[in-house]
Amino acid sequence: MTPRSTRVVCLVRRPEGEPLPGDFAVEERPLPPLREGQLLVRNLYMSVDPSMRGRLESTEKHYTHNFTPGSPLDGRALGVVEESRCVSVRSGTYVRHQLGWREWAVLDAADTDGAGRIDPGLAPLPTWLGLLGQTGFTAYVGLTRIAALRPGDTVFVSAAAGAVGSAAGQFARMLGADRVVGTAGGPDKCALLVKEFGYDAAADYRAEPVREALARLAPEGVDVYFDNVGGEQLAAALHALRTDGRVALCGMMSQFGGDRGPADINHLIQAVLKRLTLRGFIVRDHEDLRPEFEDRVSGWLRSGGVVARETVVDGLDNAAQALLSLLSGGNTGKMLVRLAPDPYGRTSAAG
Ligand code: NDP
Repeated sequence: MTPRSTRVVCLVRRPEGEPLPGDFAVEERPLPPLREGQLLVRNLYMSVDPSMRGRLESTEKHYTHNFTPGSPLDGRALGVVEESRCVSVRSGTYVRHQLGWREWAVLDAADTDGAGRIDPGLAPLPTWLGLLGQTGFTAYVGLTRIAALRPGDTVFVSAAAGAVGSAAGQFARMLGADRVVGTAGGPDKCALLVKEFGYDAAADYRAEPVREALARLAPEGVDVYFDNVGGEQLAAALHALRTDGRVALCGMMSQFGGDRGPADINHLIQAVLKRLTLRGFIVRDHEDLRPEFEDRVSGWLRSGGVVARETVVDGLDNAAQALLSLLSGGNTGKMLVRLAPDPYGRTSAAG
């Protein structure tokens, strides 16, 4: 029977300092009636992203909107079309879209994002939100277009065991990097970087200063730094970079919340001395690369050159907790929430 309402995660209040479970609540909200050109989608998986943290605040965003207290959250999700009023989309089609953080969504068929429809025969469903999704795409854009990775480069990646970082290490290897090193929180993640994600060496940024770690991991210097965290690690990378080195500024995990540590802008003299290029980017500006990305990365997946890994939390009731866990390093690979079993039995996750 067609549902008339859906459970959604709402923002109760803006966090004061670190977000807490009580800042969120699961509520029942009516679903609008299906109009011409629209789809009713049963969400199966939703993505949990660090960018959610900034969207909880009231400060200006340059590429997306902020959430308002009392309103539902949203974000990337993957689901199956239960009912369609669009001639070109049949029931049973798997689509990616932006109305996550809820169990059911009514959306315009035109709003299923860039590569809206996905082929579940090509890769397991969770992979379409991770390695073959926006996070894998971010790693690909950052390495190929922003940092202009060249065969033979030495590459350093921070937050290397996360969704973007685990993809970046593996892609760098496939793109011909000579040496790939990374940092992550804790010895287990560091071991995984070398064992599973193609890194030559890894360091625990919580256990030793990153500047010292880089002198050990990449004694000859670094050509490309893929920056997911900013702060101390960016400063350390500026010292480790070789002349003409390139930095893809992807995100600043260390800059969320109140405890930002000293931001020593004086390290930037390194960019002058070594003729470095530092370039920030937002992945959605680079959609033209998506077909190339999907083609290459699905090939790498098929050949076993890269692996997809996800941390999967079950149920909408645990979604807010999944976000809090992500922010404190509780994930390896892509953080996802499983919202419903796949009615066609295609669901599987790497673990
Ligand atoms: P991750 O899966 O990497 O999860 C975040 C990780 O960051 C945590 O697991 C944690 O791992 C690490 N972390 C948390 N706090 C700190 C800290 N203070 N210092 C260092 N590491 C920390 O998330 P994503 O892969 O989804 O995103 C990675 C980065 O990419 C983020 O900065 C995100 O905003 C950015 N991004 C940018 C996009 C763009 O278009 N520019 C698009 C998508 C993502 P650990 O246990 O190792 O500490």
